[in-house]
Order: sequence, then structure tokens, then C-alpha cells
Amino acid sequence: MKPSAFQYERPEDLQAALALLASGEDTRILAGGQSLVPMMNYRLAQPDVLVDINRLSELDYIKDDGDVIAIGALARHAAIKSSSLIQAHLPIIAEAYSWIAHAAVRNRGTLCGNLCHADAASEMPAIMQILEAEMVVSKVGSNRTVAARDFFVGVYETTIEADEILTEVRLPKPGAGTGWGFEEVAMRRGDYAWCTVVATLRLSDGRIAEPRIALAGVEDCATRLAAAETALKGQAPNASLFDDVAEAAAKATRPSASATSDAAYKRDLVRALLPRVLNDAVARST
Ligand SMILES: Cc1cc2nc3c(=O)[nH]c(=O)nc-3n(C[C@H](O)[C@H](O)[C@H](O)COP(=O)(O)OP(=O)(O)OC[C@H]3O[C@@H](n4cnc5c(N)ncnc54)[C@H](O)[C@@H]3O)c2cc1C
Repeated sequence: MKPSAFQYERPEDLQAALALLASGEDTRILAGGQSLVPMMNYRLAQPDVLVDINRLSELDYIKDDGDVIAIGALARHAAIKSSSLIQAHLPIIAEAYSWIAHAAVRNRGTLCGNLCHADAASEMPAIMQILEAEMVVSKVGSNRTVAARDFFVGVYETTIEADEILTEVRLPKPGAGTGWGFEEVAMRRGDYAWCTVVATLRLSDGRIAEPRIALAGVEDCATRLAAAETALKGQAPNASLFDDVAEAAAKATRPSASATSDAAYKRDLVRALLPRVLNDAVARST
């Protein structure tokens, strides 16, 4: 199918883009187009005005900002995956990208577009939650900052409003010695996840400190596993602890079934993947 008719705007700077979004028309931002264009072709999205932000070069950056890595709205997946800053400070993101889509999609798609699209089976919303990212959201005359845990609301739903742009994602650099784990099962490599489990933790005197765990692909949006984190905190890592935590997490989760993976299978995946992720995180913590 082809999209319904729309007006195409290609502003040269952020202020002009924000003014278009504030016009009161039914507008939609076009970033990499890797999710929006298929949705328009299927007429699942029918904006009257498409605001192409690809000329906003001021938003094309990945930069070291002290304790934070800042990623602008036009940073493409491929640039983030190969960034030396990301590889040095946030290797879990580089690893996740080897599971996300394919080279052609990663060359055009943006992290911010991915987060605003908020597919329930998308990996990055879970990673944003364990890294405790902050989202900088701009509209005419003001900016606001939203914690990742408050940004994702449901399937294809975030707290961002129609007149706003997610201009920057701010990722705190993990503390020294933080280990991480990432596991995923999908129908094929590069497909959206049936189940992704991600975790970070530190070891302090041989005991688990600051455990953070999240799931993607299982519930309606990425979910932080608070009960599992509490159960791990202060404990010495061991196989039976990890199995018990995984069993409890699998029982507690509320999986949404899809055409290709039912709820029971997703619970099995949580049960199987969570201990592996925790073992990897322990092995990588120093
Ligand atoms: C074959 C294929 C496989 C894929 N596999 C995966 C996968 O395994 N995992 C995964 O996570 N993704 C996957 N994707 C999606 C991919 O990651 C997209 O790049 C991403 O979802 C959207 O980013 P984009 O820049 O292309 O956004 P667009 O498609 O341009 O926009 C997506 C939505 O976000 C809005 N938007 C975009 N930027 C902003 C902004 N800065 N502020 C506010 N709103 C904004 C748009 O208006 C639109 O509603 C796949 C895509 C394809 C085509």
C-alpha cells in the first residue's frame, strides 16, 4: 500500500521544527523512517504533516558530558554501535545492537526514534531503564527531563506529546566495576525480541550491589524487575539464588502473547535467560 496524502516539511533547525509541531496540525516527526514509513504505508499512521528532522545536524551527536554520555536525536543506530565512547562506557548498548535489526536499518534508524516508537519488543527501552537514562524533551519555549522509568507507558505509547521532540538521551556512566549481561531469544537474529533480559550489577566484598534487571518483549512495555533486584541485593552470587530469583520473576511477569510466542513460552524464556544474564554480569564485574 501507499501512504495517504500528507504535507512534507523539512525544517533547517530545531526551533523551526518545534514551531511546526506547535502549529496545531496533525503532525508527525520523521527521523530514520524505519518504523514510521512502514506504518504510513499500512495506513496505521496517517499524519497530515510530516516534519522531517534529518537536516537538524545540531542533534547529530554522541558526546562525553562528564558523568554522562549524551546522545542526540539524529544519532543513528550504526553510529552509536561503533562509537568508541559507547564501547568504552556502555558496552551493553553495543552488544544490544548486534541483536537489533540489520545493517541497512541501523544505518538510517535513530535511538531516539526507536524509543519514541516504543515497540513492546524493542530492546533499548529495557536498557534505558537499567542504565537509568534521562530523556530531554523539548517544545517551543521549554525543555523537560523524563526518567526512562516514566517515559514508556504501553504498547507504542510514551509520555511524549504531539508538540514535543525527544532531543537528547542522557546516559549516566556506570560506576567502576559494574558488570552487565544481555540475552535474547527472537524468531531470527535481527527480529524484535520474544524475550530480552538485561542486567547490570557490582560486587562489593563479594556481595551483589546495585542490581538492576529489566525485560523487553514480554509485557506491554519494558519492565524493571524490582522484586528480583531486592532479592539479589546484598547476597553472594550463586546458582541456586539465581535460579530462585528467575523462577519468582517468571511467575510474577504478565506476558502478552503474540502470534509466534505464547505467554507460557515467554515465562520459560525468563526462567532460562535470567540466570545466564546474572552469571555474565557477575563475570564482567571487577
Ligand atoms: C526489518 C526491521 C527490523 C527491525 N528490528 C528491530 C529490532 O529487532 N529491535 C528494535 O528495537 N527495532 C527494530 N526495528 C526498528 C528500528 O529500530 C527503527 O529504526 C526504530 O524503531 C525507529 O527509529 P527511526 O529513527 O527509524 O524512527 P521513525 O521511523 O522515523 O519514527 C518512529 C516514531 O518515532 C517518532 N519520532 C522519531 N524521532 C523522534 C523524536 N526525536 N522525538 C519524538 N518523536 C520521534 C516518529 O514520529 C514515529 O512515530 C526494525 C526495523 C525494521 C525495518
